[in-house]
Amino acid sequence: MPRAFTNDFSWSKSRHEKLQECSRAYYLYYYRSWGGWGAGAPSDVRELYLLKKLGNRFTWAGSMVHDSLRDALLDWRAGREVVPEKVVDRALSTMRDDFRFSRGKSYRTQKGRKAFSGLVEHEYNEPLPDEAWKQNAETVRTALDWFFQSRWPALARGLKPTQWLEVDAGAEFSSFSLDGVKVFAIPDFAYVDADGAPVVVDWKTGKMREGYDEQVLGYALYVSMRYRLPLEKVRASLVYLNDGVEHQVQVDENAVAGFKERFAQSVARMRGLLADPATNTPKDESAFPQSDNAAVCARCVFRRPCGREAAVRAA
Ligand code: SF4
Repeated sequence: MPRAFTNDFSWSKSRHEKLQECSRAYYLYYYRSWGGWGAGAPSDVRELYLLKKLGNRFTWAGSMVHDSLRDALLDWRAGREVVPEKVVDRALSTMRDDFRFSRGKSYRTQKGRKAFSGLVEHEYNEPLPDEAWKQNAETVRTALDWFFQSRWPALARGLKPTQWLEVDAGAEFSSFSLDGVKVFAIPDFAYVDADGAPVVVDWKTGKMREGYDEQVLGYALYVSMRYRLPLEKVRASLVYLNDGVEHQVQVDENAVAGFKERFAQSVARMRGLLADPATNTPKDESAFPQSDNAAVCARCVFRRPCGREAAVRAA
């Protein structure tokens, strides 16, 4: 018998960050919009689900770069040739199509490509100069150009089949259990280096920021558990493609103990918002207050159903 599709409790770094930013947005994203993909769902739930799926221009650029690098790595893994100019052209051409799809709000009436569901800037008619959109495409081009002239292509092409662990394998595959909680941790690239050390890599298109180290520590734990490799041997790397900088994250006992402690606190806070932890049923919406931070609302996909659209526009 097929398993029923239920909203099971799980943890990820992005879920943690959503709750830190605004508990109302967390509630709308992880609970109230649940089931909104179904044609028979109530219209407000369907609307929340549609809004939840929107990206913004920065996440869009990031995912274009990630998808392009994933495809290039998978091609090298399969022994296929990769032509960098073609990869860049394909990414920019896809972005042009995406842009037209989003600007016309076609995501309200049609399905787009799987990895793109429209942009919040278009949904809320944000007045953005053309220059901002051009800059966004330039971010993608710069990141890909740097990658193809970096050490990574030669490294990937030189890996033996047994050295590849995974390439952006997706949420269905990349998860592990920590203290009984399902944790999603999807490294962009994981392999075993020539010295036998597992390496996890995360590509970044933005600037360095707090929280990224924590994210790759989660990947290190995941790789160590899934492939039964000693945690103390795992190396974790953050690669800032637009700045051309690589940052090694220390994976040691202290760092992992700190991660586990913060994870336990985060899970306890999330569970404290549940009326019934056994079924992952949330408390009433009133238990999830709105944020006081206008800057967070200005980026939020839920500003309309939350009643903050006019305030954001006025600001
Ligand atoms: S508009 Fe502001 S208060 Fe409302 S959900 Fe979004 S971030 Fe939270």
